[in-house]
Amino acid sequence: MSLIVQKYGGSSVGSIERIEHVARKAIASREAGHDVVIVVSAMKGETDRLMELAHGAAQSPTPRPRELDLLLSTGEQVTISLLTMVLERLGAPARCYTGAQVRILTDSAFSKARIQDIDDDVIREDLKLGRIVVVAGFQGVDENGSITTLGRGGSDTTAVALAAALKADECQIYTDVDGVYTTDPRVVPMARRLDRITFEEMLEMASLGSKVLQIRAVEFAGKYQVPLRVLSTFEEGPGTLITYEEEGMEEPLISGIAFNRDEAKITVIGVPDHPGIAAQILGPVSSANINVDMIVQNISNDGLTDFTFTVHRNEYENALAILREHAQALGASEVYGDTGIVKLSLVGVGMRSHAAVASRMFEALAAEGINIQMISTSEIKVSVVVDEKYLELGVRALHRAFDLDAKDGATVRVEGEVQ
Ligand code: ADP
Ligand code: ASP
Ligand code: MG
Repeated sequence: MSLIVQKYGGSSVGSIERIEHVARKAIASREAGHDVVIVVSAMKGETDRLMELAHGAAQSPTPRPRELDLLLSTGEQVTISLLTMVLERLGAPARCYTGAQVRILTDSAFSKARIQDIDDDVIREDLKLGRIVVVAGFQGVDENGSITTLGRGGSDTTAVALAAALKADECQIYTDVDGVYTTDPRVVPMARRLDRITFEEMLEMASLGSKVLQIRAVEFAGKYQVPLRVLSTFEEGPGTLITYEEEGMEEPLISGIAFNRDEAKITVIGVPDHPGIAAQILGPVSSANINVDMIVQNISNDGLTDFTFTVHRNEYENALAILREHAQALGASEVYGDTGIVKLSLVGVGMRSHAAVASRMFEALAAEGINIQMISTSEIKVSVVVDEKYLELGVRALHRAFDLDAKDGATVRVEGEVQ
């Protein structure tokens, strides 16, 4: 008998009808002889709704993190209860637990807590008794008993962490697309489903903006070797398996294209080009706990240089204010920012052994008249920053240029209906 952890996202549990569909899928797995643990997200749109309520209620510009996490965790509490009621109605013995009831122990970093330990005793007991176990995604409890959340999309991480703790045979992420695609099928309808993608590539795709899996879930799965698959809740199919790179296997040059709308750019103009200037500019930014992503320093002209970097949009105002405060001490003539940018990235382990990926990328963008503002590369990715108005045009042009378009010209259906 094998043990399967299945995670259903917000749109999969968006109504009682859909919850019933999920319950029937879980029961079918149980009847096929598997032990089944289900992780669910809040109903579609619920976490956003709770967030809005909190911002309306809080007095300071942002609600207190401890109370915000307690509030946001209730979304998942609703779905575990409803799903368990439906399972029982359909004749399947089931038990549900919040993260704290399982005891998913996390650190105290509210809104981005990390899982430290999972007590799997109650789950194992229930499975032994033939029950389907339903666990709330996205949450845990810290050592002081405060409820924490794991960051947006965090139910994926709950599922993978539970699968690791229970040594599950597979962790199945059910969502509104039938697998991982060459790029977001909402932006490129000609995107193709991948049968498999390596952990390394999936990690890059997730960190470069593809929200189909939360990055921490992929990290966790890679670290604990959890077999991970992305599938559709609404259609039968093999989905996409996240795999290890196999020796001697021909890897595609490019597996996917990711994009990120969440970054902003800051430029410091006319700073003296001497040793230590980069550290002087970025020191105060990192002291304020702001992560910097891409960095470009120009060659100097008359001993002066310009320095540009990107940060998450949420931290943009703060980073800009810090640099303006330091501008005089740095000797900068000006500091300016731009939020109207996007980052487009090509990802593929195959590019390790092939040159010319970057130049083909630049040619494809140039052919559409898209100006590149920043570039960064690593062994398995090339990223560029461009004006946000070119997002769709750029992604589609790259998709075509690297022969990723679906051969039969089929377009994908993103939001499936319950059949
Ligand atoms: P859930 O609520 O089930 O967790 P998400 O909205 O978090 O679902 O993730 C699924 C969505 O991810 C899809 O609807 C799709 O628009 C988006 N997405 C982005 N990049 C990709 C990709 N490369 N392949 C598949 N889906 C992607
Ligand atoms: N409900 C949370 C969110 O909307 C967690 C999740 O869905 O994975 O981000
Ligand atoms: Mg998600």
